[in-house]
Amino acid sequence: METEYPVQVADIVSARKISVVVPLYNEEVMITPFHTRLKKALDSSPWNWEVIYVNDGSTDRSRLILEGIRNNATNVGVASFTRNFGKEEAMSAGLKLATGDAVVIIDVDLQDPPELISAMAYAWASGADIVNMKRLERHGESWMKKATAHIFYRLINRISDVPVPADVGDFRLLSRRAVDAINSLEERNRFMKGLFAWVGYHSVTLEYNREPRFAGTSKWKYWRLWNFALEGITGFSIAPLKISSYVGVMCAGMAFLYAAYFFLKTLIIGDDVKGFPTLIVTVMILGGLQLMAIGIIGEYLGRLFIESKRRPLYLLENYRAPLQDHKK
Ligand code: UDP
Ligand code: MG
Repeated sequence: METEYPVQVADIVSARKISVVVPLYNEEVMITPFHTRLKKALDSSPWNWEVIYVNDGSTDRSRLILEGIRNNATNVGVASFTRNFGKEEAMSAGLKLATGDAVVIIDVDLQDPPELISAMAYAWASGADIVNMKRLERHGESWMKKATAHIFYRLINRISDVPVPADVGDFRLLSRRAVDAINSLEERNRFMKGLFAWVGYHSVTLEYNREPRFAGTSKWKYWRLWNFALEGITGFSIAPLKISSYVGVMCAGMAFLYAAYFFLKTLIIGDDVKGFPTLIVTVMILGGLQLMAIGIIGEYLGRLFIESKRRPLYLLENYRAPLQDHKK
């Protein structure tokens, strides 16, 4: 990704600060290798930078290690949650705490190379508000995960009200005004990929190859991914509600035709007691469809219930901000 930028860009950049937001949960083995690589990449770039680690209720030594790093650096902030709230919540917290002119969200497991941050920042300095990072290849991930991710992105794009860029994960850069826009959204359903797309603004997409996880294991089990997908779909589309009402209309229409058919048949050739299979099949299909429709309504109602309680998204146990701005 070697791109030549005009000299003027290099001049403007030096005054600007990039905040790197890193959500993490039980990643004790990853933190030090990640920080070393991040520091190396950003110290040799023209940008001022800070990093905000959001410890999402880790139960291992993650917090200790983070505090250690913070004690030896002026541009490291560490926020700790009172328990595990989830990656979306951790990212939301990071976006609130970051003070930079642009914010980059990155995973701690080195699947997203920190060396690309500088290129993202150049794209931002040249006018982009959002820099999406599109994964060309996802090394070290099972075909099942890639296939489900593929289907998910296609599906959500088909039905969502805003286009969610395909194969773009959470690794991305947001300008200050895009971050402020996200921070002003009060909803509890934090499907961040959708929220990022919702704010609009001028976005550019860079491509990269996703590395395998450096160490540790993925925190995303399939059940969790399924729930995440539901969150995405119900948060950004009411298509399922519409589909279920159309299916209802179709079924009622078919039932009506069927009734007319029986009515005429009885008039013309009389009634016999046959037809039990049709009856039971119809009853079961209708029963199933009704339950499905109620279930879909339930998914939305449940989320409405959660929204209406207006609980905070997360609770910070403490936040130690970076000591001072790290000026180049
Ligand atoms: N993560 C988090 N809270 C969670 C689960 C994950 O902050 O409840 C962090 C995790 O530590 C990592 C990032 O989110 O920095 C991505 O997680 P992971 O690598 O497990 O997901 P994958 O790359 O497999 O999608
Ligand atoms: Mg990962």
